[in-house]
Amino acid sequence: MKSAEIRSAFLNYFKRQGHEIVASSSLVPPADDKTLLFANAGMNQFKDVFLGREARSYTRATTAQRCVRAGGKHNDLENVGYTARHHTFFEMLGNFSFGDYFKREAIRFAWEFLTVELKLPKEKLWVTVYKDDKEAEDIWFNEIGIDQTRFSRLGEKDNFWSMGDTGPCGPCSEIFYDHGPDIAGDPPGGPNDDGDRYIEIWNLVFMQFNRTVDGKMEPLPKPSVDTGMGLERIAAVMQHVHSNYEIDIFQHLLKAASDLLGGVDLSAKSLRVIADHIRSCAFIIGDGVLPSNEGRGYVLRRIIRRAIRHGNKLGAKGPFFHKLLTALIDVMGDAYPELVESKQHIERILLKEEEQFSKTLDNGMRILEDVIAELKGKVIPGQTIFTLYDTYGFPVDLTNDIARERELTLDIAGYEALMQQTADANRKRKATVDYNAALNLDGQTEFTGYQQLAHQATIS
Ligand code: ATP
Ligand code: MG
Ligand code: MG
Ligand code: MG
Repeated sequence: MKSAEIRSAFLNYFKRQGHEIVASSSLVPPADDKTLLFANAGMNQFKDVFLGREARSYTRATTAQRCVRAGGKHNDLENVGYTARHHTFFEMLGNFSFGDYFKREAIRFAWEFLTVELKLPKEKLWVTVYKDDKEAEDIWFNEIGIDQTRFSRLGEKDNFWSMGDTGPCGPCSEIFYDHGPDIAGDPPGGPNDDGDRYIEIWNLVFMQFNRTVDGKMEPLPKPSVDTGMGLERIAAVMQHVHSNYEIDIFQHLLKAASDLLGGVDLSAKSLRVIADHIRSCAFIIGDGVLPSNEGRGYVLRRIIRRAIRHGNKLGAKGPFFHKLLTALIDVMGDAYPELVESKQHIERILLKEEEQFSKTLDNGMRILEDVIAELKGKVIPGQTIFTLYDTYGFPVDLTNDIARERELTLDIAGYEALMQQTADANRKRKATVDYNAALNLDGQTEFTGYQQLAHQATIS
């Protein structure tokens, strides 16, 4: 099954179960939501419905939501290229109940979709529940008939979800797929579980309580359900491959990137990073964000610069990244016509960033190589990180990405101290500028304080 077929099979299955098919929301949350950098789960657009602040004409919904997990609370940027299952951009398939059905139906739907619709062998599926959720456990054992040996009870960290420190929360139950003994790794929760043999495919969240300011758990009058399954992960299962990068969408992007770079092994880590990053960059720009030095724009810039650096590592001779839009539209244009509409705009923005960064990338890399060659020990000094950031436009995570490849680490404390010094100096300068402006001695009131804010995306 192609990814596009799985997406429709999911939405149609839940439509048959009385769910309204709702379009994905933008990656950029509404202006009044200051808690979220980018949409990172299907439930985001229904937050107010779950909280009872907004009414809809339906009580069951299903979506394929575009998500970005780079920066903020869920940050998978550093996982890209290292695990088989993490992307900066991915699609989350979800079904939602707003005070309608609860655990029993949610579990039954998920199991039926996987084992009847997709015909996955039951022996490959593993299930986890929250350790105190006897209700979910009973449903799995007595109604679904799951095998004890493929079942585990996990704690708060893995299987208890909450929207924030207060508000709706509740236990989760997750479904994993075992990719087989050729891949190392323990079952969910085991001591050697890195998540890449038994890959988590679906999270079922049972919104059951309201956590009050004093930490009390009040039962919600109308418990709700929020689920999320990564399209790329279930596509890997359905296409009998282990890594998400081996699915149809990624194979097409990888081939296109390889062709642009004059022929690169499709399993090269850097190529995977590029194929991942073109999706997040294209969709983020498509949703109206521009590269900048703060907030969302800076996250975008960091991802673009990382992609450019990996291209450079593979021998790119000039701007290449923007050229991947055509290949992306081949595989995702049908599901996202808005991507087709904004193709030229996205290409233009990416090309501009590529041209701008390529001016400093080579020089920055040379400086870093020199420092690494002379390095005694395993830590890149704060001064180098600072110069790369301040003069050459290397976001810190980019320097870190390079360091990690060489098994080096960064002196972040040293770097931050230098950032602080510049911030103080800039504040003093700004005060002088403001003073001059007030006296009308100098019409120029340039604010340079963004730079030091920029490296830390301030919203979660
Ligand atoms: P993991 O433990 O593998 O990092 P997660 O527990 O953080 O996943 P959830 O927050 O439960 O993921 O999201 C629901 C589903 O979305 C996951 O079960 C998975 O299928 C998918 N998913 C989550 N993060 C990513 C990602 N970075 N790339 C691709 N799919 C993802
Ligand atoms: Mg995660
Ligand atoms: Mg998980
Ligand atoms: Mg999870």
